[in-house]
Amino acid sequence: MSSRVIDFDGDFSPTVAMLQLFAENRQVVRMHFFTPSKKKLLLSYKKEKHTTLVYFDGVYVGRLSSSGTMKLSGFGESWPGWDEAKDVLNQLLLDPLQAAKTSAAISGICCFCGIELTDERSKSVGYGPRCAENGNLPWGEFKPINLEDLF
Ligand SMILES: [Zn+2]
Repeated sequence: MSSRVIDFDGDFSPTVAMLQLFAENRQVVRMHFFTPSKKKLLLSYKKEKHTTLVYFDGVYVGRLSSSGTMKLSGFGESWPGWDEAKDVLNQLLLDPLQAAKTSAAISGICCFCGIELTDERSKSVGYGPRCAENGNLPWGEFKPINLEDLF
């Protein structure tokens, strides 16, 4: 089997910046994004390696570098999950916080820790107050960081 590695076109640095905010106090940060068919895109950021491994529906898709470029592994566009995976990746490119919100509306769980969201303020952003605090992300009235200001 040939394994080719191709670039996914686009700059994921806002997504990487969000993961890095959480990595202040831990080694591994995971984010889950659900599609309308309830399949999961998992981002697993490892602080010591400065890379984020990307899985979709349990299949390894590729990796994000710390600079926000993405290398796809060589499953090719014939892989049945690819279109759906690509949709979520494109959402992350446009706006990772919006992607978190969309995912929470589908799954009802926090995109960072997987706990069920019950509070309307949590549902409206896609993560709970503790994760918001850990990642220094907006929650409720608290809006400390504009991700775009990081670049
Ligand atoms: Zn959480």
